[in-house]
Amino acid sequence: MEFRAFMVNMIQSELEDVVGRENVSVNEADKLTYGVDYFWVARMWADKGKKPPAPDFIVRPGSAEEVSKILKIANYYKIPVQTWGGGSGSQGSALPMAGGILLDVKRMNRLISLDEKAMTITAETGMIFQTLEWHANAKGLSIMHIPSCLTCGTVGGALAHRGIGILSTKYGKIDDQCLSMEVVLPNGDIINTLPVPKHAAGPDLNQIFIGSEGTLGVMTKASFRLVKLPEARRFRAFLFKDFVTGIEACKEIVQTVKPSIVRLFDEAETVSIIKKVLGFDKRGAFMNMAVEGNARITAIEEEIAMEICAKYGAMDLGAEYGEKWFENRITFFYPGHIMNNPQMFGTMDTISTYDNVERIYWAMKHAVEDNFPNVRFIAHCSHWYDWGTMIYDRFIMDEPPEDPEEAIRLHNQIWNAGVRAAMQNGGVINDHHGVGLKLSRLMKEQYGPAMQVFNGLKKSLDPNGIMNPYKLGL
Ligand SMILES: Cc1cc2nc3c(=O)[nH]c(=O)nc-3n(C[C@H](O)[C@H](O)[C@H](O)COP(=O)(O)OP(=O)(O)OC[C@H]3O[C@@H](n4cnc5c(N)ncnc54)[C@H](O)[C@@H]3O)c2cc1C
Repeated sequence: MEFRAFMVNMIQSELEDVVGRENVSVNEADKLTYGVDYFWVARMWADKGKKPPAPDFIVRPGSAEEVSKILKIANYYKIPVQTWGGGSGSQGSALPMAGGILLDVKRMNRLISLDEKAMTITAETGMIFQTLEWHANAKGLSIMHIPSCLTCGTVGGALAHRGIGILSTKYGKIDDQCLSMEVVLPNGDIINTLPVPKHAAGPDLNQIFIGSEGTLGVMTKASFRLVKLPEARRFRAFLFKDFVTGIEACKEIVQTVKPSIVRLFDEAETVSIIKKVLGFDKRGAFMNMAVEGNARITAIEEEIAMEICAKYGAMDLGAEYGEKWFENRITFFYPGHIMNNPQMFGTMDTISTYDNVERIYWAMKHAVEDNFPNVRFIAHCSHWYDWGTMIYDRFIMDEPPEDPEEAIRLHNQIWNAGVRAAMQNGGVINDHHGVGLKLSRLMKEQYGPAMQVFNGLKKSLDPNGIMNPYKLGL
């Protein structure tokens, strides 16, 4: 929407009336900082000196009531609203593509309660997740949501993208950890989901908002279950002759014991990233794992996992490389260790039941490497369920086209080829990074007629379509 003459000032003064003058900005330099998240296209675009997407107003609410008033103003003027947490998302989901109000929620960062009897913790969603975890740790407790973005993502961002942490194989995803939440609906109504997520009082409202990427409202508070910090955590690493043998072994491990970490790397990632970061210099499929909890139980779990790996012919690398992986779990993302601009890269992140994992892996690898010269495909499986696993697959191109428009064209062609290959073989387009702008166009292909359920929800909750336009295929 284009605002004429003094309309910007009129709306700005209404927003200032809600949050105070110091919490509204129309400063051009401030606007620039919200034009780039971790989405490759946005980063490349800015690197080439192109103008990033910018909001018209940056607003920093301090409470759910303030969010409610802002959404009412936005609905009246039919201004797009873009919620922004830490801006660490990789899917372009936080980018203000349609301008309007950028709602930076990080002022809403209070701890509401930590209840040791209930074993719950409740906080405002603008809090950085690491801070929430520190509050729990101070009492010997943990939420056990430990993603690699722990220090840069917010509570709301983790919920909005249905995020996952490195200990997920034992403790689940954010949607297993969240008990309830407060949400400001697009019309400004403030609602609460039920205090427990497991009930028979109809569908679970939490699951409507978890993964909704700011398209159905603004989550303002959330409660999580707590668990005791583990008495023991034991690490171990193995080398399988190939990725496919490793998948079979890991499936048997998670069907038998409950490890917290299981990371299995394909041959290409073993000789590239694992070699570079951990200094491990052998060919095959590297796997690191951890078991944790009660010391006696973990010792038995580790023994059983070792027996299973031996049955599949794996080389036991001992504790050293398992510990090394854990120590480097964040440094994997440091410059020099991982892909970075000007390289072109993307994490396709696919999830499926066990019967399809191998097929999807090969279909994606061929779709990417056979159709696009000079593009490499590497993968690992990092989050395991009783019924399947996710493939954290990446494509990498060292010398993408210089021209930013050509680069976007090629980027999207590679994504389409890889993701369609996954879908055609029974995969789902994403495990935990979300859809955002990056995969928005593929949502209809993923869901088919089922997409009408989301469209209906969107129309009824957000009839003016103001919340986070162009994202999630809505
Ligand atoms: C180095 C690195 C490592 C990463 N590792 C992981 C990982 O291990 N696991 C993982 O899951 N992800 C990972 N990510 C991806 C990303 O960090 C997560 O998706 C994270 O949860 C995003 O949080 P954020 O606060 O930065 O959200 P943003 O990027 O600010 O926003 C993401 C989406 O959430 C919406 N949103 C934010 N707050 C709210 C709210 N309160 N109410 C409604 N909608 C809201 C936004 O509108 C947007 O659609 C990683 C990213 C980086 C850069």
